Amino acid sequence: MFRNKKKKNPQFEQFKNFHLQVKLDCKGKDDTLFYEFNKPLDSSILEYLKPFGEIIPLSGDIYELKRDNFFKIQIPIGRTSIIAEIPENHDPLARIMLTNQFKLAMNELKLPGNIESICPEKAIKEAKGKMIINRTKCNYCLECVIKED
Ligand code: SF4
Repeated sequence: MFRNKKKKNPQFEQFKNFHLQVKLDCKGKDDTLFYEFNKPLDSSILEYLKPFGEIIPLSGDIYELKRDNFFKIQIPIGRTSIIAEIPENHDPLARIMLTNQFKLAMNELKLPGNIESICPEKAIKEAKGKMIINRTKCNYCLECVIKED
């Protein structure tokens, strides 16, 4: 007996507090990720993006984050969307890792209980279920980012 397993649509994912639309390139690989959130972003989202690299303030309340082989994103605080440009030879886990950080930020994933001890640089503190990263200690090793779908 066969059961019809529902296949995941690689180009659209719906979560509780946001959704993700994916534009693929001609080879079927991720090209651009469009995240749309149910409410305006606040600055707490930046905490969850710190493991990927230095977050640069641009004009107003807009920040930019670029990690080679992962993505380039602008984070507009007060708006509801984030667009991630994915380079051609990207790490295949880039989308999963970024999405998992957004799930944590939106309380859709729980922080691992041992989150503080995961960090080799002792850069993470957990307060009331939220992750706080000391950016002067963080070396962007990504050990603390969940890599499973
Ligand atoms: S594990 Fe620690 S050093 Fe590595 S990215 Fe996370 S916070 Fe930064």
